[in-house]
Amino acid sequence: MKILVPVKRVVDYNVKVRVKADNSGVDLANVKMALNPFCEIAVEEAVRLKEKGIASEIVVVSVGPAAAQEQLRTALALGADRAVLIESADELGSLAVAKLLKALVDKEQPQLVILGKQAIDSDNNQTGQMLAALSGFAQGTFASRLEIADERATVTREIDGGLQTVSLALPAIVTTDLRLNEPRYASLPNIMKAKKKPLETVTPDALGVSTASTVKILKVEAPAARSAGIKVGSVAELVEKLKNEAKVI
Ligand code: AMP
Repeated sequence: MKILVPVKRVVDYNVKVRVKADNSGVDLANVKMALNPFCEIAVEEAVRLKEKGIASEIVVVSVGPAAAQEQLRTALALGADRAVLIESADELGSLAVAKLLKALVDKEQPQLVILGKQAIDSDNNQTGQMLAALSGFAQGTFASRLEIADERATVTREIDGGLQTVSLALPAIVTTDLRLNEPRYASLPNIMKAKKKPLETVTPDALGVSTASTVKILKVEAPAARSAGIKVGSVAELVEKLKNEAKVI
């Protein structure tokens, strides 16, 4: 079984992001970039399926600038077999990314596509769902458990009210939630080996996909600064302040 894992290059989660002065977006100049944490979980799950003998090949794909090769190499070091960079210097919206991934799905014919539930830069939480719609595959989103048997994927989903288990016919789309697994660290020998694994670059044009966007970002703003908190000396003081200052009780 071939597994396709789309991975995104995003601002490292430890970085405190700054909004550009013209409010056109987040300032990415000299900022540390990393593999999106939910994508790391997706790669880990695919690697575990390969270790169990269920998957035979793991292909990772990223849509982004040439620099996204770094994140693809990280995914190769974590255990993916080969990588595809769909190179685009422009920041693309989810629908354009999903269309590009659909073209790659047609070419690669994976039985399973594992994506992150969301990219932590834009928090869109929609690429997997859009890819499922475009490809006509079944989808199991927010997975906290995944089992493959008898040509089906059983996915336990984290939903508001608890857990929901769905059974999907393959080929299928799964998106990862936080509790699915704990990703491993790449070992130094695997980082060295990853440098020699195949990494192919293609353009959106070569895939026959138009990346023209129907969505325009009008403005990006930082959240309002919060005023400093205070420490109260006792429960009585807390109750007094909630009653008389904050007027919430
Ligand atoms: P989003 O819908 O943007 O929150 O992203 C959800 C998931 O879609 C991510 O965790 C990735 O698996 C995939 N994805 C989103 N954008 C890209 C991209 N530019 N390249 C590859 N995969 C992506």
